[in-house]
Amino acid sequence: MMTADVQKSRRAFLQSLAVGCACCAYGPAHARLLDYKLAANEIASDTWTVYGASEYFNFDNGGNIVNVAFIEVPDGVVVVDTGPSRRYGEALLALIEKTIPGKPVLRVYNTHHHPDHCFGNQVFESNTLASSQGVIDNIKLEGDGFADNLYRLVGDWMRGTAPVAPGKVLDAKTEVVGGRQFSHFYLSGHTSADLVIRDDETGVLFSGDLAFLYRAPTTPHADIAQWRTSLGVLAKTDRDLILPGHGLIDPKGESLEQTDDYLSWVDGTLRDAVSQGLTMNEAMALPIPRRFAGLGVVQTEYVRSVSHLYARLEDNLMPLIEITR
Ligand SMILES: [Zn+2]
Repeated sequence: MMTADVQKSRRAFLQSLAVGCACCAYGPAHARLLDYKLAANEIASDTWTVYGASEYFNFDNGGNIVNVAFIEVPDGVVVVDTGPSRRYGEALLALIEKTIPGKPVLRVYNTHHHPDHCFGNQVFESNTLASSQGVIDNIKLEGDGFADNLYRLVGDWMRGTAPVAPGKVLDAKTEVVGGRQFSHFYLSGHTSADLVIRDDETGVLFSGDLAFLYRAPTTPHADIAQWRTSLGVLAKTDRDLILPGHGLIDPKGESLEQTDDYLSWVDGTLRDAVSQGLTMNEAMALPIPRRFAGLGVVQTEYVRSVSHLYARLEDNLMPLIEITR
């Protein structure tokens, strides 16, 4: 892993944000082109990431808010996550063929079932798609609902997209794909099933959405205590570099600390709010500490987190009162 690669890649990420802002200025005319303009950024030897915008789903970004990766192994290509739509999957496949001409895609991992990570599955050979049983079950259970929602959020970008669950169930700690060994870590907390992949040759850890860097974590299916436990596991896991599901690549492990700090603050803040009897709207209006000001879409994600987590916390923390007449 070369520092120059990391710096180049961080620059590319920041440039992608600037492009995202410019696109918004052009508005609907740009959106009509429906071209994701994917670019491959080399983050380690024979390893590329395709950065998404540090935004929430919208008509301009077409759902491309996610980091996807591909790796050249001796006999082919390994892909980690497939993006938010069939159109994205097609663009990703074309980018892979352009970057690594003539090598077949041998394995496509899905880190979890959220639609921005697995709705490009359709374009890959079904026998290459793989994940844990939990991720596969979640895609089967929630994929259709996610598809409906994403059609509403990004519109035409989704045309022709249908959820496809991997057929290959992973349950071993490692597998060799095309002459390269990958480790699998079966964790949870961001969702009920989060698969983390490590390329044992380069030491790149593909954390999926267990880690975010300079982008606020999303919590629609979160179990925060479990998530923080998983972050502790990852902190102790050997690696040279982390590619978070969203945000910058992370040579030092900052993404694990930043995600844990933010989750700890959200959890503590909402518990205090419940104990003070605040309404959900009042909890949403609480100030976000300055140290999180640099996290992309933090205000939006905080409000979403309150809407996901508050009622559950009220149920757990507020005493039941038995009314007798
Ligand atoms: Zn996610």
